Amino acid sequence: MNAINPTGWRPSIGENTPDGTSQTFTGNRALQLEEALLFELGNADRSGVDFPATDDIDLSALGPMARAERPDLPGLSEPETVRHYTRLSRQNYAIDLGVFPLGSCTMKHNPRLDEKVARMPGFADVHPLQPVQTVQGALGVINELAQWLIELTGMHGVAMTPKAGAHGELCGLLCIRAALEAKGDPRDVILVPESAHGTNPATAAFAGFKVENIPATPDGRVDTAALTARLGPDVAGVMITNPNTCGLFERDLKIIADAVHAAGGYVYCDGANFNAIVGRVRPGDLGVDAMHINLHKTFSTPHGGGGPGSGPVVLSEALSPFGPLPFTARQVDGSIKLIEEEHAHEEHPQTFGRMCAFHGQMGMFTRALAYILSHGADGLRQVSGDAVLNANYVLRSLDDVLDAPFGSAGPCMHEALFSDDGFAEGFSTNDLAKGLIDEGYHPMTVYFPLVVHGAMLVEPTETESRAGLDQFIGAMRSLADRARAGDERLKSAPHLAPRRRLDETLAARKPKLVYKES
Ligand SMILES: *Cc1c(COP(=O)(O)O)cnc(C)c1O
Repeated sequence: MNAINPTGWRPSIGENTPDGTSQTFTGNRALQLEEALLFELGNADRSGVDFPATDDIDLSALGPMARAERPDLPGLSEPETVRHYTRLSRQNYAIDLGVFPLGSCTMKHNPRLDEKVARMPGFADVHPLQPVQTVQGALGVINELAQWLIELTGMHGVAMTPKAGAHGELCGLLCIRAALEAKGDPRDVILVPESAHGTNPATAAFAGFKVENIPATPDGRVDTAALTARLGPDVAGVMITNPNTCGLFERDLKIIADAVHAAGGYVYCDGANFNAIVGRVRPGDLGVDAMHINLHKTFSTPHGGGGPGSGPVVLSEALSPFGPLPFTARQVDGSIKLIEEEHAHEEHPQTFGRMCAFHGQMGMFTRALAYILSHGADGLRQVSGDAVLNANYVLRSLDDVLDAPFGSAGPCMHEALFSDDGFAEGFSTNDLAKGLIDEGYHPMTVYFPLVVHGAMLVEPTETESRAGLDQFIGAMRSLADRARAGDERLKSAPHLAPRRRLDETLAARKPKLVYKES
């Protein structure tokens, strides 16, 4: 950094190393560059752009809209701005850098072929308002992907437009609500087991249902007896995550689905973890009525990147008539028709309506279809097999140094769950997770699921090699040993990252979103 920074900003020299051995003039540590805030780098007296002088411009036309003061914007040149963001980007961790074991997010390698296909101008540059006859190829992609999702899940129909997993949950519940309304049935309770993803109860509440919790059994699955005992004329349905958030397959799903149907309700399955069962289990065979699929987990594009997402919802025969607009349909002449509001009354009269302005996430559709076609039926089956194998390899390689709460219940699915049981007094999951940053890894999902104390949810995914997993396991073993032995240095980790341990609660509760020069 510039030592003659006009704002007086100085890097905290030696901040990163308690012994101060790597103090440098700039605060940079070799190629790990320090970076100030944009406002600290630039100031309002400078500008990177040459504007014409404003003195002789008549601002009276702006009336009261004219600014009384200069805007407090940092003046920076283009190279200064580019460097700022490039430096910040180098402080990010990414799936293209290393193992990203964030449980439930399926942070797997994104095949470059899928990226190439998504960037083809015929897909990347289409506009949603183009006349339908000019985008037949793009609509063909949506239609073909829809057929594949129906095939892979053994379901009857699919709503392609929802733009994320949680959006898909909402779509499924709105279908259930529309189906109940069509029957004049006032049921309004959704049962959600403790082993379900956190978005499930949130979605049910958002859709206007009353949410009731169903406990988990000691082996981490839905308590089937408790659930079936609660069924009755007020229960609209259940939302079950399968595989669930403990990384376990809900073996009783068919029994539960039959009981729910017999009691007049519907079965929503959270299928975000479909990558663990694709090619092996068809939710349609298990009695599911609606299930979202996270294209941005199972079918390439890692989840943790902040978007875009895509959460198509497959529907049973009972719920398909209520699915949202628009959708595609192949005509006898081979062309593809987009069924929108103007055709809805004759072609899809019971639809609950529309979830988003246009047709869904085109870029995600092309990536997912490229992923499915390039893997083929045998390849997709291998994806789920390898994902489960890798997770079990992690589980069994660490269960002698880390408590695996459901380890004795048999193999896990696509993710391995550990707890902080056995750590020295005063040490918890957070310490191990921060130590993992020093080891060069993004931490796993922590303190979730809530059914386990100090949960650590590790999802290695199928795209990690044995060598990559062994190195990760080595780092985890070393950190587990330190946490069990009570190594004090672990309590203040990370030591080697650009910043030390932050007060994350304060940052979340009182975020400073506006820069004020002090
Ligand atoms: C990721 C995930 C979701 C939510 O998906 P978003 O795309 O983030 O909305 C829901 N359920 C489970 C089990 C998930 O893993």
